Amino acid sequence: MNCSIPDQWDIQVDLAVIGSSCGGLTAACKAKELGLSAIVLEKASTLGGGTAFSGGVVWIPFNHHMLAAGLQDSKEAALEHIRCSSMGRHDEDLLATYLDTGPEMVRDVERITPLKMVSADNLPDYRDELPGGSKGGRLLAPDPLNMAQLLLDAEQKYPAIGKIRQSPFPLYSAVPLPTNDPRFYVAGRALIGGLLLGCIEMGIEVLDGTPAKKLIVQDGRVIGVEAERNGSPFFVKADRGVLLATGGSEWNDALNRKYMRVPKVHGITPPSNSGDGHIMGMEVGGAVALMDLSLLMPTVRIPGEEIDGEPMYRIFQFWVGQPGNILVNKNGKRCCDEAFYPDIGRAFEEMDAQKLTHANLPMYWIVDQGFRDWMTVGTLPRGTEMADWLQKGETVEDLAEKLGLPPANLRETIERFNTFAREGKDPDFHRGESAYDRRWGYRPKHKPNPALGPLEKPPYYGLQIHVGSVGNLGGLVTNSNAQVLKASGEVIPGLYATSNTAAALHFGCAYTSGMVGGKAMTFGWIAARHAAGFKDGEKAAVPAARTAAGRQAATAQAQQSQVAAQASASTDSPSASAKTINILNEDGTSLLGLQSVSKAGDRLCMKGKLMGSFDTKMYLNAGGLYQMLGLMMGKAVLLFLLLSPWYWIKGYMQTTQDTGGARTGRIMATGLLALAAYAILAFIIAMIVLGIYNLLVYHRQTPRSQTAARG
Ligand SMILES: Cc1cc2nc3c(=O)[nH]c(=O)nc-3n(C[C@H](O)[C@H](O)[C@H](O)COP(=O)(O)OP(=O)(O)OC[C@H]3O[C@@H](n4cnc5c(N)ncnc54)[C@H](O)[C@@H]3O)c2cc1C
Repeated sequence: MNCSIPDQWDIQVDLAVIGSSCGGLTAACKAKELGLSAIVLEKASTLGGGTAFSGGVVWIPFNHHMLAAGLQDSKEAALEHIRCSSMGRHDEDLLATYLDTGPEMVRDVERITPLKMVSADNLPDYRDELPGGSKGGRLLAPDPLNMAQLLLDAEQKYPAIGKIRQSPFPLYSAVPLPTNDPRFYVAGRALIGGLLLGCIEMGIEVLDGTPAKKLIVQDGRVIGVEAERNGSPFFVKADRGVLLATGGSEWNDALNRKYMRVPKVHGITPPSNSGDGHIMGMEVGGAVALMDLSLLMPTVRIPGEEIDGEPMYRIFQFWVGQPGNILVNKNGKRCCDEAFYPDIGRAFEEMDAQKLTHANLPMYWIVDQGFRDWMTVGTLPRGTEMADWLQKGETVEDLAEKLGLPPANLRETIERFNTFAREGKDPDFHRGESAYDRRWGYRPKHKPNPALGPLEKPPYYGLQIHVGSVGNLGGLVTNSNAQVLKASGEVIPGLYATSNTAAALHFGCAYTSGMVGGKAMTFGWIAARHAAGFKDGEKAAVPAARTAAGRQAATAQAQQSQVAAQASASTDSPSASAKTINILNEDGTSLLGLQSVSKAGDRLCMKGKLMGSFDTKMYLNAGGLYQMLGLMMGKAVLLFLLLSPWYWIKGYMQTTQDTGGARTGRIMATGLLALAAYAILAFIIAMIVLGIYNLLVYHRQTPRSQTAARG
């Protein structure tokens, strides 16, 4: 169903990008840098889609950051890994293009936009033990040292930056973050932020609240798009092409019913990810593939929680991956490696061939009081507080009855699991065997296996798990130029696709963290180059004169137009909040910290671990001087506190042997020393009390940041 060509276009550009995903924004920046004009249309009133919720991690093998850090990698190893993990279900051409272009794309995006990345040197591929797998470095994340402060500052100048979505969930990150506050520009928000700032600085219009509705085709070529803006049709002419980057179809019930192998999928991305690009592409003859693939994850429904007016299903992977909990199926039996979410996805889809039902649905999450003593559950703080979405049983059997599970089965399952947990080995589902399983969780030092812990302290708690998705991976079939293909393999001229709108053909049935973002950016970049006239495989040698001219023109345009999205943006700056004081917890160890956010957006952060090493690299950013001072003071105070009682005792012992003035002097000196030490101790206690207050008020609502990338 093609749209008729309008008498008048509202705007004419070279490349029209649909969706402010990282792939869409990358394409817009690259197109502009190559001298094309570009516009980004975004359906929602906020920017960044599911990417903004994400860890912002992109999987780019042999990228320049990992090589600079001395980590080894090669195209051959990456090829071997994907060939093996996709079980033969991949497209060799797309795969080769992805691997050849990815590293160049990252270098180029860092050059043309303010986005700066770092490699997560210790984060392995999901299945690093398989041939060609990597122990770390392939995953790139936005550099928290540069991006957070840069974007806070940019937000003051360009309110459009403040329109980047804030995640309703705890933050995910591949690298340690300076904060777990979802208002900050870290992880996925920083990825979107760096690219969006690039768009703004280049004068690219990013129009939120402007959903694309139909592609406009003339003589078999896509020449534009009909969108809706302020309730009226808005026609965009796109001379070089339209790029569909509208995310996945996980919020589209009709498509899910048609293609997915689970009864009901609950999107964990924004509701605007409803497969619009898929449908528009199919309407003009685009073929689709892998429509049954999805990044399935456990979710829970907390009544009353909403996202953009829709019922929100809260991502629950944070809790499921920890030691001291299990997932059981409707028979009260374990059915997956709970610490590896793709295996939970497999269990969601598993069929009981005898009864022709889903073998494991509904699924339940079970913990004991021991778990609740150290960890929040959803929005519930540690302890015993209850909510109507959580069931409690004084005994295992009591809980089983409340959940409708066979009590004897649940008892047997827990006893069997507890034996495994004590031995540190799970022969049933191999939980805690892979490097990835062992990294996941807040208790990296938990023994004998950080992913396994027994459930033995009554009472017991449980809740029903629902099937969620952080992105459907099926989509339009594309070639190595990111052009959409028909079922015949013929190109649809003028139409490109990336993000989850394009099928994950190059990853077959396996997935590793960051492949969505990696694919989205790489093929967005490729689409822009192709639209600019670059041929297949041609190197990105950008004519200097064209770039300089493009830049000048862009700056002038930026000054004039001030970007439409910016003009309509809210002036509510999330960073302009009142001062806050936090005790921060990361990696399950306790951190003593003070953090304040001033109205101007400048931060004064003081952090220090009470015990153990401190990652000083994290705090060498703007404002880092304060942070370093805070850190050094913290260490000095600690040393002083540890030593002062010893000095006091030593001084006292000596005074009992001394006489006269020397004795009085020593008593005074040691007394003063002790006084100072205890004054500082009192200060620290006060901070801890404030911290506990903060934990009660703040962490009740916002569980701690994760330092492992998922999805
Ligand atoms: C907590 C979490 C952590 C994750 N971590 C990672 C990670 O670290 N790395 C990774 O690769 N993946 C990760 N994922 C998965 C990935 O971020 C999501 O699948 C994401 O949605 C994929 O983004 P995208 O590029 O496909 O599009 P999105 O970023 O979702 O953007 C699509 C945009 O298109 C807009 N749109 C839709 N329809 C229209 C229309 N008709 N007109 C205009 N605009 C439209 C949407 O509103 C949206 O803004 C994570 C997901 C979650 C939830």
